[in-house]
Amino acid sequence: MELKLVKEKRVGDFVIEGARIGRDFLIVAGPCAVESKEQLSKTAGFLKSNGTHALRAMVFKPRSSPYSFQGLGIKGLKIVKEIKKEYGMPVVIEVLDPRDVERVCMVADILQLGARNMQNYPLLREVGRTTKPIILKRGLSATIEEWLSAAEYIMNEGNMDVILCERGIRTFTTETRFTLDLASIPIIKKLSSLPIIVDPSHAAGTSELVIPLAKAAKAIGSDGLIVEVHPDPQRALSDNKQQLNFDMFRQLIIELSELKR
Ligand code: PEP
Ligand code: MN
Repeated sequence: MELKLVKEKRVGDFVIEGARIGRDFLIVAGPCAVESKEQLSKTAGFLKSNGTHALRAMVFKPRSSPYSFQGLGIKGLKIVKEIKKEYGMPVVIEVLDPRDVERVCMVADILQLGARNMQNYPLLREVGRTTKPIILKRGLSATIEEWLSAAEYIMNEGNMDVILCERGIRTFTTETRFTLDLASIPIIKKLSSLPIIVDPSHAAGTSELVIPLAKAAKAIGSDGLIVEVHPDPQRALSDNKQQLNFDMFRQLIIELSELKR
């Protein structure tokens, strides 16, 4: 499935050329967390036929509270492996601990490093030694320079396939969960040749803001999106306010298709 060429890497039918994403606008979507085989299967089946290139399939959740749902862990990897095989979709899995990288790589097509781990240097180095593309999310309070330095930790280990992800930064505003720093997209384009995608879900914190933020991201030059989608968001075990239901995701894809980059 994955061609390990020097200049071109295939993730499913999506091409990452050197450090750039080819042609298309990358759509990664899926639940905040894998909750069950049934939930992931329903979501993958829907997304596969609705414009999605890769499935979010998170089994380790970095939660602010230690009492919140932490993800299914290693047990969840088995579910992801089965769903990936059943639907033939590339999967994105977040890794929190350097000790899990090798095991997660056996299933993941793309690794994600979350906002809270942007400056976890042992983890950056560890994923830098893999051959998987890495989605590197911006830290909650990270400057663009700190974010690019984090990417360099990965690339210095030999892995050049870093995809930056703007997911909002902490400001004084309380109406949104974070403030989506759209200016970072043209700034990153000027300062680096790395692709950059946007996560409107964690920035917004509420589902009704996801479509407008996603459209703004595409319009300003983002190379793609990572969006949270759940078959029944109200009953989700994490981030239940911001996950799109299937109807909303369909609407998002329609509205995006009407927009030029
Ligand atoms: C996530 O994408 O699952 C996530 C936790 O996002 P972030 O690291 O941006 O908060
Ligand atoms: Mn989430």
